[in-house]
Amino acid sequence: MANIGYIQVVRHCNHFCGFCSNPTTPYTHDFASMRVLVDDFVARGYFGVILTGGEPTLHPELPDIAAYASGRGLHVRVITNGHRLADPAFARALHEAGVSLVHVSIYSVRPEVEARLRGAEGTLERALGALEAAHDAGLELNVNCVINRLNASHLDHNIRYFLRHHPHVRHFVWNNLDPSMGRAEVNQGQFTPRLADFELSLHRAMRLLHRSGRTFRVEKVPLCYMADFAWASTETRKIVKGEERIVHFLDDKQTVRQTAWGHRYAEGCGVCSFRSICGGLFDRGDGYDPAELAPVFVDPRGVVEAILGDRSDPSESGESGERTLAAWEARFAGPPAPAGPSPVVPRDEGLVPVGRITERGRRLYASKRRLEAAKSRRSGVEQEPDRSGAPPESDHQVNQVTKVT
Ligand code: SF4
Repeated sequence: MANIGYIQVVRHCNHFCGFCSNPTTPYTHDFASMRVLVDDFVARGYFGVILTGGEPTLHPELPDIAAYASGRGLHVRVITNGHRLADPAFARALHEAGVSLVHVSIYSVRPEVEARLRGAEGTLERALGALEAAHDAGLELNVNCVINRLNASHLDHNIRYFLRHHPHVRHFVWNNLDPSMGRAEVNQGQFTPRLADFELSLHRAMRLLHRSGRTFRVEKVPLCYMADFAWASTETRKIVKGEERIVHFLDDKQTVRQTAWGHRYAEGCGVCSFRSICGGLFDRGDGYDPAELAPVFVDPRGVVEAILGDRSDPSESGESGERTLAAWEARFAGPPAPAGPSPVVPRDEGLVPVGRITERGRRLYASKRRLEAAKSRRSGVEQEPDRSGAPPESDHQVNQVTKVT
């Protein structure tokens, strides 16, 4: 097992993506409130931490918290839209702070599509600049891509472009759009794809990467849409390896500990040979149609063996556990339970508040909401509802140390 935790260091952003599932909130973090969360991951024996947002590079203490996490032995990653990372000095600062890996989010290499998805002009050029700046600074580099209605047809075109122009990017991650939260929920009609919309281009893209020796992962895509690459499904890998994730949301959800990876299944899943290792349809927002699922009849043990034998992930390098299929079958807990369309994701017991709401945070939030309302009017992308109802806390309140369970 190689568990990785997430800390949302900010929730504001300089872009206005129509499918953002983690938009701005009045909550804020400082170094002290983030440090206790890092300490908790260390105490739990986690392999690494992913610093995310919002846009995490907008937090002035990002290099400090990255350096602290790295100093405590965690593998530190940052997920970014690349706007600040395109500055070579900032890329060097992250590298010097001990960041091992940056995930730059790029949805489409067609500038007009990327601008539409980002709610801002010039974003593609900047993100591609970030790929170069990060590489020059010595940072390992991934490209992340949210699959949505506007890029569903050309995922393979994106990959061809990266292979040709940015050959040093060695790993790619696709996330199918989560239509259950934030702006993604209120803009489902504009951005949520059908599974069939991206099936072909995703397959071509995976094949291109596989043949070129690159690695990749795919999240929130059911295995019947992964064809020969089922081993690249992140849910399946977590099911097979029995991993958990802790996410510290900088909003009312606070801390969520995920140990179950089953989502929604259709009737046909009952006869599907992949049922025991498939996360099903990630559909908490009723944005997808379970009728698109189709059972497959392929021996799942080949997928399990491919996952057990894969040493390509940096989190696997030190693992020495038993990796034979027989050993896995002996300890496998069985198929993931279906969570239904709107599961209650359990909060971790014993954890304390993540971030805080201060008067300053409220003022920043109000100002950001006004700015985004103007963007919404210009772009036709709806703004998510204002959910800031919590009472203000003292500016001096800090997180208590979290309890390891
Ligand atoms: S279990 Fe269901 S969702 Fe998963 S591959 Fe089979 S048919 Fe598709």
